[in-house]
Amino acid sequence: MLDYEALTRLAKEHGFAAAAPLDVKTLEFLPEVREMCAADKCHMYDKNWACPPACGPLEEMREKVSKYSRGLLVQTIRDIEDSYDWEGIQEAAELHAQNLNKLYDELKKQYPGLMAMGAGTCTRCARCAYLDKEPCRFPDELIYSMEACGLYVSKVCTDNGLKYNYGPDKIAYTSCFLLE
Ligand code: SF4
Repeated sequence: MLDYEALTRLAKEHGFAAAAPLDVKTLEFLPEVREMCAADKCHMYDKNWACPPACGPLEEMREKVSKYSRGLLVQTIRDIEDSYDWEGIQEAAELHAQNLNKLYDELKKQYPGLMAMGAGTCTRCARCAYLDKEPCRFPDELIYSMEACGLYVSKVCTDNGLKYNYGPDKIAYTSCFLLE
């Protein structure tokens, strides 16, 4: 049984503003979400082992995730001026990625078999080996993008009792850890 009080405390110590228990049964791997990656709005399509097409088919993701039942959702929430505040949005995304990598390393000590899915591409390395046509440096630690896994992030949040939208002057990035 996961100690969610302790996990939430740990998440907050690693810079996250909110955390919530994740019931893996709520995760739906939607082809229509995965298909949005090909539009390359995030400019990471075909640039990272953790994103399409390199990350493999949705069925493979479903298979990997099926080993888990419980996990943790984590959120970084920052103030922004408005939805055009690209600098603020980018800063929040970078902070979230840092928080995620730090908490990953900490949780790995307690849950060596954990899996993480993040808001956006894997940032375990400063430059993904995919760009140099080399194998992933940490295939057991790469952090898949939630969207690449076909997860509709706002639905994952609401299905697990975590707020997703904090209003026009805030931006929230959400990631998750699958722990047991
Ligand atoms: S661990 Fe490194 S090489 Fe592997 S997907 Fe992440 S950034 Fe790329």
